[in-house]
Amino acid sequence: MEKYKHENLFLCQDEKVDFKAIIAIHSTALGPAAGGVRMWKYDSEMDAIEDALRLARGMTYKYAAAGVNLGGGKAVILADPKRPDREVIFRTLGKFISRLGGKYYTGEDVGTTLEDMEYIAMETPYVITIPEHLGGIGPISPMTAFGVIQAMRAASKEVFGSHDLTGKKIAVQGLGNVGASVVEQLLDLGVNVVVTDIEESRVNSIVKRFKVEKVPHRAIYDVNCDIFCPCALGGIINDDTIKRLKCKIVCGAANNQLKEERQGDMLEQMGIFYVPDYIANSGGTIYDTDRLFGDGVVNKERAKAKVTKIYHRVEELIKIAKRDKVATYKAADILAEERIKAISKVKRHWDTWTLA
Ligand code: NAD
Repeated sequence: MEKYKHENLFLCQDEKVDFKAIIAIHSTALGPAAGGVRMWKYDSEMDAIEDALRLARGMTYKYAAAGVNLGGGKAVILADPKRPDREVIFRTLGKFISRLGGKYYTGEDVGTTLEDMEYIAMETPYVITIPEHLGGIGPISPMTAFGVIQAMRAASKEVFGSHDLTGKKIAVQGLGNVGASVVEQLLDLGVNVVVTDIEESRVNSIVKRFKVEKVPHRAIYDVNCDIFCPCALGGIINDDTIKRLKCKIVCGAANNQLKEERQGDMLEQMGIFYVPDYIANSGGTIYDTDRLFGDGVVNKERAKAKVTKIYHRVEELIKIAKRDKVATYKAADILAEERIKAISKVKRHWDTWTLA
């Protein structure tokens, strides 16, 4: 806690139902802490605590850089993610979250589902991702995709002198919830799209519906294109793949795209503009959390308008990278830290003003 300057760490136990969880609050400088709940079989309680602390800190940076007025937090449940008694587990977590009185909001993460969120919502209002019939905003992946495209537009302005993506060639890796929507939205903008996925059926379904080029999944790094858009897993920019890239911009939804930070510096040296993943993929979260800052009622238009601002976030990022002569992945951290420092000086009225 001292090392990363965390505010709170809560250890939760209910022996009656064999429940143990950790809730870490890294920062509430910008607003109440938020971050999903992970369910995982940790080797020890210490491992779980470390994971919660690390993930909570990551959320602080993610929200701050994305311009969302939330702090960073995370919950981890120490249990097998396949544990069947979901209602008991997640309602118990909901009771603990309720005790924090709105200092921590939760959502989905590894090992948890939307259905689990419904159970949490039976015990506490402090859960962000909920189904539409419970007052949630509905599927967020199309908005993550829309946000990625706003980031691409800003990066294109910097690299090619125009934010118009028409006629550009963009290679999309991964055709899941986000990737498939990115493809659809790019085609509407007149982009030439190259696609791949490890699941042949996903590629076929896209190829059947749209006019796109497909390549085998291992060949995506070799595609000569303007933008490479990773929408599959993390760690795909590594020592093996980086040499093969023939693009001018990397901008996609996948989390933790750089295997190691030094690959961020390598991209810079290669003249490839990298849009840090947590700025490019923040659209879904901006959209999902919007209702907390209004009257508690979903307003899709207002939420989408906020997602378009990712364009300006990337512009800010470029300014910082040039000012401090750092690679963009470092500039994103600086952007987050500067925002937290500046806003910490503003009177924190949310302490007495309950979010919707
Ligand atoms: P998803 O599971 O729906 O889709 C991932 C797709 O990638 C699958 O079709 C899978 O077969 C494919 N894939 C996996 N490994 C591959 C490889 N080596 N090469 C090609 N394809 C591969 O996931 P998603 O919800 O679309 O999310 C995609 C990425 O974006 C993830 O890293 C996720 O963490 C991140 N992300 C998603 C959201 C969101 O709103 N869903 C928000 C922020 C970040």
